[in-house]
Amino acid sequence: MPRALVFAFVVGAVVQAEADRPPTPQLTIEYVAPVKPGVSGAPADHVARMRVLIDMLDRQLQLHHPLTIAFVECGDANAYYRSSRSRVEVCHELWDKRRALYTHTGNGREAVDRRLRSSMTFTMFHEIGHALHDQLKLPLLGSHEDAVDDIATLWMIRLGVGEAARHAAYGHNLRAKQPHYAHDPWDEHGTGAQRGFAIACVLYGSDPERYFGVFEDMNIPAPYVGRCREEYPDRLRAWQTLLGPHLR
Ligand SMILES: [Zn+2]
Repeated sequence: MPRALVFAFVVGAVVQAEADRPPTPQLTIEYVAPVKPGVSGAPADHVARMRVLIDMLDRQLQLHHPLTIAFVECGDANAYYRSSRSRVEVCHELWDKRRALYTHTGNGREAVDRRLRSSMTFTMFHEIGHALHDQLKLPLLGSHEDAVDDIATLWMIRLGVGEAARHAAYGHNLRAKQPHYAHDPWDEHGTGAQRGFAIACVLYGSDPERYFGVFEDMNIPAPYVGRCREEYPDRLRAWQTLLGPHLR
């Protein structure tokens, strides 16, 4: 979905979201402007868009405890779910690090902005996936990081922002191609290329026509792409089994 359409969809949906939201929001957004010299972080309009998405999520999901999504300085370029504080933190430093990566690889300003916003949206949903696993005691098999990537991608498709996940797949793949990219075997995450492929695979499986070009730049042989279409119904059923009891 083009960015303008994504935003229009999101803004249109907020009217209904306001009507259906729980009386006390379970999900709230917090933004603390960066103060360290040289740190820019998330722009205010991105945070406003995330507020709309979070409102949509809030009216669909029944959590056990309130959860705060905070856009803050952390001291490092990362994102976290803090279980003890029931809080997701999307660090301003991560925003800056990714902007530098996308700019460095020769993207135009508009493409950098679109990809950056999209990948940071995915990161927020990834951390929310960790929060759901923790709060709702979701039984997960295999790597938790892989599982929450799937949970995040499927939530984004459900909320109409699958295109943002598509750019996140691109970003993971791009990161893995950098000259000094390294991946420790004990890293709880898959490699950038593996994470990018996994996200793209879920998107393609959900709608092969719409996401036909999602494997661009990944050099994936056709038989492996076909597998994504076969696996998608299982992934969706697993997501529905895990989260169905917690949907409003
Ligand atoms: Zn994670």
